[in-house]
Amino acid sequence: MKLAIIGECMIELSNSEGDLYQLNYGGDTLNTAIYLSRCGGQVEYVTALSDDVFSNKMLENWQSEGVGVKHVKKLANSVPGLYMIENEANGERHFHYWRSNSPAKLLLEQYPEIFEELQEYDALFLSGITLSIYSELSRAKLFDFLKIYRDKGGKVIFDNNYRPKSWLSFNEASKTFNQIMNLTDIALLSMEDEISLHGEHSIEYCIERWLKAGASEVVVKNGPNGISTANSQGKFEFDVPNVVKPIDTTAAGDSFNGAFLANKAKGEDLEKCIRAGQFCAAQVIVHKGAIVPREVTLIKE
Ligand code: ADP
Repeated sequence: MKLAIIGECMIELSNSEGDLYQLNYGGDTLNTAIYLSRCGGQVEYVTALSDDVFSNKMLENWQSEGVGVKHVKKLANSVPGLYMIENEANGERHFHYWRSNSPAKLLLEQYPEIFEELQEYDALFLSGITLSIYSELSRAKLFDFLKIYRDKGGKVIFDNNYRPKSWLSFNEASKTFNQIMNLTDIALLSMEDEISLHGEHSIEYCIERWLKAGASEVVVKNGPNGISTANSQGKFEFDVPNVVKPIDTTAAGDSFNGAFLANKAKGEDLEKCIRAGQFCAAQVIVHKGAIVPREVTLIKE
């Protein structure tokens, strides 16, 4: 299965000591692409950067991780989006974003040829955060494209990552999530985010909603409490075999997705994909930061 991931990676500044800030690069879909690659899969990352020093560093880093960059566009005279993580003494983290003019936001408007380029993939992965960065017009174009893409046999894989601050209003988010639900083949969902979007409800009801909208496989991630799934073979529950005490849960869901998709692309069955995802996520959350050192073993022997 040839796979491409669409999204945005930003410059990350997190305060380490007083007013000293450490520079990293981060984004949910990029995290997924990196873990997918580290777990033995192949993927192209689809986004727009600029021609500045930070964009070049990102590109170098992605290439060194084995993530394909042939669809990364470079919009001159711009700079990538930036966010700051403020760590409170009590461990609370606050995120502040400067992304309103980021090149990734303009990808679909500035480079409409991307839709043609995406036709060569068997599956496309995107998240709720990916959708939040585009204008309403861009999203409409993307949804029109996804309809045609699916009619031709392409698979859409969606992670519902919902960040209320990234949306103009709840209504805008709610409408958009309902649109993508009707265009999704494989749903990799966080139950917490489903509840934020649809109010308190059961996992069973959540799964029914996605199946009814047309998904052929639904995976509901519920932290250390387990994973509930449904596909054409039935409904299955998976416990978390290796519950750990997390040090930093950043990228738990993203790394799960990466390992899951690396296995899915190889044609592995659902259980193998889930177990690979769980193993990878459990390693990631016992390290600080979204991307763990390369020597960490992410593939279960
Ligand atoms: P998301 O970040 O998308 O909300 P979850 O919080 O459900 O996702 O976490 C993703 C995966 O990370 C879980 O399905 C599970 O496999 C793993 N995970 C989360 N918390 C723990 C934990 N305490 N111990 C082991 N694995 C965990």
